[in-house]
Amino acid sequence: MPELPEVETTRRGLAAHLIGLTVADVVIRNPMLRWPIPDNLPDLLRGQRIQSLKRRAKYLLMECGNGTLILHLGMSGSLRILPDDTPPTKHDHFDLVLTNGTLMRLRDPRRFGAVLWHSDDVHTHPLLASLGPEPLEDAYGEDNFDARYLYQATRGRSIAIKQCIMDNHIVVGVGNIYANEALFRAGIKPQLAAGKLSLPRCAKLVAEIRATLSEAIDLGGSTLRDFVNTSGQPGYFQQHYWVYGRGGEPCRICGAPIKQIKQGQRSSFYCQHCQK
Ligand SMILES: [Zn+2]
Repeated sequence: MPELPEVETTRRGLAAHLIGLTVADVVIRNPMLRWPIPDNLPDLLRGQRIQSLKRRAKYLLMECGNGTLILHLGMSGSLRILPDDTPPTKHDHFDLVLTNGTLMRLRDPRRFGAVLWHSDDVHTHPLLASLGPEPLEDAYGEDNFDARYLYQATRGRSIAIKQCIMDNHIVVGVGNIYANEALFRAGIKPQLAAGKLSLPRCAKLVAEIRATLSEAIDLGGSTLRDFVNTSGQPGYFQQHYWVYGRGGEPCRICGAPIKQIKQGQRSSFYCQHCQK
């Protein structure tokens, strides 16, 4: 599943190709994504100039003169830039055709992605309005996720800290992989009650969440060419994980076997020696 670093990598790759271009046409082959693609989208977008491409959580926000196209990659979506005569394949559900002879194509085999439109301030859209702060600096240079914020947001909470940092109301964009990795790096076991985390440990966790995501985004830069070419799969990158997906394997620090448990339907991986 695309996590925040893949979405940010996609955003950077697409922005370089799309900003300033004008939409020539919109092709909807299968509107039945997570929500139906609005059928008036071609009328709304034709002739509009793409002004910016921003990101909020895992939503890509393409600002045009008359509103914002909201894109989400869901479980299996990818967006690529292709020549506009590229024949579509089975899972290519949506194209944005540009006047310069290219197109942006959404492929989404599992169809949990989204293509939506919002004419007002996009941050008032129901999917975005109640989201917590970005873990990294946001599109407006605001930086609201810090130790004191996390400390206050977790007081009195008996929920596990891992589920807390994966809750979009607390902080957005920390998916399962990065939650596991950041907790290992911070030395915090995933099942610790969130309310028991001290302020210094909140500071450590915030720093490791930011570092883990930033490193993955930096790594993604080298895969950009993969998703703008015409063949192959999107550039979701494999990393050298500390704990994620390593149940039973030796901890890279102490050698103890990595434990695997379920928390809220998701797999958690941790070292019982290195994480308290
Ligand atoms: Zn260990």
